[in-house]
Amino acid sequence: MKITSAHVGTIPISSSMRNAYIDFSKMDSSIIALVSDVIVDGRPLVGYGFSSNGRYNATPIIEERLLPRLLAATHDELHDEAGGFSPSKAWDIMMTNEKPGGHGERSVALGVVDMALHDLVAKAAGVPLYRWISDHYGDGQPDEDVFVYAAGGYYAPGKSDADLQDEMRRFLDSGYEVVKMKIGGTDLADDLRRIEAVIDVLDGDGSRLAVDVNGKFDLHTALEYGRAIEPYNLFWYEEIGDPLDYALNATVSEHYPNPIATGENLFSVQDARNLLRYGGMRPDRDYIQVDPALTYGLVEYLRVQDALAQHGWSPRRCIPHGGHQFSLHIAAALHLGGNESYPGEFQPTGGFTDDAVVTNSRVWPGDLPGIGLEGKAEFFKVLKNLHA
Ligand code: MG
Repeated sequence: MKITSAHVGTIPISSSMRNAYIDFSKMDSSIIALVSDVIVDGRPLVGYGFSSNGRYNATPIIEERLLPRLLAATHDELHDEAGGFSPSKAWDIMMTNEKPGGHGERSVALGVVDMALHDLVAKAAGVPLYRWISDHYGDGQPDEDVFVYAAGGYYAPGKSDADLQDEMRRFLDSGYEVVKMKIGGTDLADDLRRIEAVIDVLDGDGSRLAVDVNGKFDLHTALEYGRAIEPYNLFWYEEIGDPLDYALNATVSEHYPNPIATGENLFSVQDARNLLRYGGMRPDRDYIQVDPALTYGLVEYLRVQDALAQHGWSPRRCIPHGGHQFSLHIAAALHLGGNESYPGEFQPTGGFTDDAVVTNSRVWPGDLPGIGLEGKAEFFKVLKNLHA
């Protein structure tokens, strides 16, 4: 297989919401179309990718560094011994002459191309991506569906507790059983009132509510909140302090007995391994949220899975950030614990295929070849325009 042309763009995925750290008024995403020389039904197969959400576009890195290396590579440099196109060999080519460390935006850029390459190889095999991943990297027996929870509960101008409750009721009505809300964007008393308002909607069951700090708290505030929310027995307490402050996380985990989740802002196997080594994360109850799309793509995410296994972690403790169709396939194929979902947000890239139905907080990735972004009508229009 040869990539005959590559097309990159940047599109807005803005939203009026706000967490404890940022608002999303200027949020955007890199998108890519890789056109191949494989012809199916008279048309070349095209692989599509995009950059999850929460980090800004990495389009210049894709255009100026990654694609020139990929497009200049020889057939042998991109294919394995069996003759198949190898996303893993492509990964090595794209990372040529890149120093270690400082993963940041580069990992986002590579994630976009890696996603498109995996979309392409699964389409060339004529199978949905979860099947391709399961056959190549897994045990050949993907999960039939994936646990998803609805992430929302953002701060927004003029949003009342009643509005927050209505939002959560909409999630429950759409088939979700677990929901998430933001905290840390106001004071403790205010947040406790908001949390209790949501728990009311959950029939008093705090174990169906996750709260997310988005890395805002210092140690003092983290412990103060931890003490205050402990009696609610929440689903998890997420990204409590700065993503790289492993000592803070470890100290909180010594004092807060209920589940902690973090990892969405760790973008490499090295950073994820440091979290396991130094972050006090407990394999019997905590959750790892590394987002494959932001973390150099699936090739690097498999290394993260190896590091987790080495430290005694089950893949079921992983519930990736991002709420996108790429991670949904990965979750089904690698037996992860689930995937995030942001119903209606970050359009047109976010969410699953238009016909996806969530039942009892579970959803099936669908049977379209590849990732199935063709099943997201509005997004597919944008992607098709990229290479029209
Ligand atoms: Mg989060």
